[in-house]
Amino acid sequence: MTEGERGVALGAIAAEVRDCTRCRLHETRTKAVPGEGDPSTEVVFVGEGPGFNEDHEGRPFIGRAGDLLVKLLASLGWQRSDVFITNVVKCRPPENRDPLPDEIAACSSYLTRQLEILDPAVVVTLGRFSMARFLPGARISQVHGTIRPADPETGARNALVLAMYHPAAALRTQAIERESFDDIAGLPGALVASRNRRGEAPATGPSGSPPPTAPTMIGAPPAISSVEPADIDQLTLF
Ligand code: URA
Ligand code: SF4
Repeated sequence: MTEGERGVALGAIAAEVRDCTRCRLHETRTKAVPGEGDPSTEVVFVGEGPGFNEDHEGRPFIGRAGDLLVKLLASLGWQRSDVFITNVVKCRPPENRDPLPDEIAACSSYLTRQLEILDPAVVVTLGRFSMARFLPGARISQVHGTIRPADPETGARNALVLAMYHPAAALRTQAIERESFDDIAGLPGALVASRNRRGEAPATGPSGSPPPTAPTMIGAPPAISSVEPADIDQLTLF
């Protein structure tokens, strides 16, 4: 798919989401929040669901959690417009309660289709509900900051998953905020590792610089090691 075709296909999904009445969350939403970002990105962030500000504006992660997400990206020299940002449920749960299983199920195909179109190299999960979709049975306290292959059934057919705490949790607890900065520091390495797995020519570094070395797979548990920091220094995202 060309970038233009991806943009059109994502726009069609966004239009469906804005009119969607598949679950009860449509009754209380102000605006649905389909997600936004660069249709040609290699990196997709998946949060939980819209909050108060997102529901008013129809855009993901624009409140305090979004401000922290922007800071986390800035720690890599990246901007939110470099990536695609969306959520597990596209409409705000009342009082910011957790999304219910039937709501997640009703909304599931939108995220799957978005990922099929974007074909990301890396999916960053923000919080438990997003992690549960890509790493079923995992515990966030154990897997945050690690890199594992995504189940292709999720729509991300050849991606690595970097699990992170939800930025709202980081806003509540300083130790989690520090861990979040540590965790996102692994994202450039995850991207290089995924590019190598996908067999793409690495689009990194000034021309003539050596390509990043292949990552080492660690045995049975499907965690994947990142690449050497020396390679990461040469990484520019796009
Ligand atoms: N929290 C989320 O999980 N998603 C948003 O879009 C905003 C806050
Ligand atoms: Fe439709 Fe998802 Fe909104 Fe429910 S949360 S109404 S399934 S878009």
